Amino acid sequence: MSNVILLLSYLFGSITFIMGLKMLSHPDTARKGNLVAAAGMIVAIFATIFLYVHKVDKWGHTEHLHNYVWIFSALIIGTIVGTMAAKKVQMTAMPEMVSIFNGMGGACAMLISIVEYHHNPHPGIGILLVIVLGMIIGTVSFAGSVIAWGKLSGNIKDKTIPGGQIINFLIFGGIIVASCMVVATAGTNGANASGLFYGIIALAALYGVLFVMPIGGADMPVVISLLNSFTGVAAAFGGFLYSNPVMLTGGILVGSAGTILTILMCKAMNRSLKNVLIGSFGGAKAGGPAGASKDQGNFKEISLNDTAVLMAYAQKVMIIPGYGLAVAQAQHTCHELEKVLNEKGVEVLYGIHPVAGRMPGHMNVLLAEADVPYEKLLEMEDANDQMGTTNVVLILGANDVVNPAAKEDPSSPIYGMPILEVEKADHVIVNKRSMKPGYAGIENELFFRPKTSMLFGDAKKVLQELVSELKNV
Ligand code: NDP
Repeated sequence: MSNVILLLSYLFGSITFIMGLKMLSHPDTARKGNLVAAAGMIVAIFATIFLYVHKVDKWGHTEHLHNYVWIFSALIIGTIVGTMAAKKVQMTAMPEMVSIFNGMGGACAMLISIVEYHHNPHPGIGILLVIVLGMIIGTVSFAGSVIAWGKLSGNIKDKTIPGGQIINFLIFGGIIVASCMVVATAGTNGANASGLFYGIIALAALYGVLFVMPIGGADMPVVISLLNSFTGVAAAFGGFLYSNPVMLTGGILVGSAGTILTILMCKAMNRSLKNVLIGSFGGAKAGGPAGASKDQGNFKEISLNDTAVLMAYAQKVMIIPGYGLAVAQAQHTCHELEKVLNEKGVEVLYGIHPVAGRMPGHMNVLLAEADVPYEKLLEMEDANDQMGTTNVVLILGANDVVNPAAKEDPSSPIYGMPILEVEKADHVIVNKRSMKPGYAGIENELFFRPKTSMLFGDAKKVLQELVSELKNV
């Protein structure tokens, strides 16, 4: 009977994961989707703790998990740390947190493989293969995510490694050879090969570090989603080892969602995955020729009052949000600006670039938090279609995603990335605090072009002042 309840709770967990994932695809239902999937996860966890039979002796007596002190200590510590981290995190630090949490998933998969390796004294070839694969992918994901976390938080800088491609190729080869040697010990006492086994972990960790380290410029979104899919695949291997359907489903869902996201991110950057991964070793980097400061002439500034007049008499205004909007936490003021303009009969739309901000979907999440109607958010292609009939484009803390070098300068590290073609509009107003570059570290010629006017200042402060100016126009 308890086995039936266990299987039903796994079925419930799997269904809620799928429902939750579906609901996450729309901002209106995303919050609920998260709760639905979390509820399914809680049911699956407690069913496993109390109902899972981990041993049956020769008389048919079953044994459930019993080391509750260990289990609940870990659960309580994990819950406290996770809750506090999620409550305390600033919206701008969200990408780093997502990255490190993803890394923890990879670390779990690695630990599962280590434990299973030692608890299976004479594993068959299939089990050993799953153990080794889960361990390699989990370790690469863990080490890579830690580096991604360091990069997103600004603690680790992009580093081109001389001969990096060859070194990584050699490490990869070493991992394959050592893994074949470990798998060849199938059926014998696994402990014989434990030196080799831990050697693979070290190589996989090194591979994870070296593979993420040089990737920079604007390619990080691809790496983040790729690491995400790695963790999912590694978790699915764990589910396979424990014959746990809910872990298997969860892992497959994360793995496939991460893979789809990787493909979408590659499309958004107009790069192939191979190009992102291999091109980063010694490819054109920010700070190189394209990143070097060029004398691009003068830029012109615009006052708040002139901006307010220009916008008040426009028919259509397109707001381009970027990372700076998240830094300034100006999403609510931005929505207020939109409402004031609407009251004056001005149509306001938002042009969303797929890699704007620091995590996939960052701008959608940010604006949804401020209750900006979802239908006002245009995807890049739709926004570009509307640009020709837009009177004023207001760029709020965006830089790389509107940089014309992506279209015009083949030596630029972001060359080929589709951008929001703001210059098709009548006027372009750029709000940022200085002339400093964005994430890719390259100058933006847009700021010096005839149609562009700079409106310097913190996005929130500028928007607050703009709203009061507009009320007086
Ligand atoms: P950028 O990082 O290119 O530019 C952000 C700009 O915001 C900066 O130039 C900065 O200029 C300005 N800014 C910062 N703080 C404020 C503030 N308080 N008020 C006003 N402006 C501010 O951002 P984009 O969104 O245009 O592009 C995203 C970049 O991040 C791309 O290169 C993308 O590849 C990369 N990336 C994206 C990820 C994703 O998944 N979306 C993940 C990792 C990287 P100043 O200092 O002068 O104010």
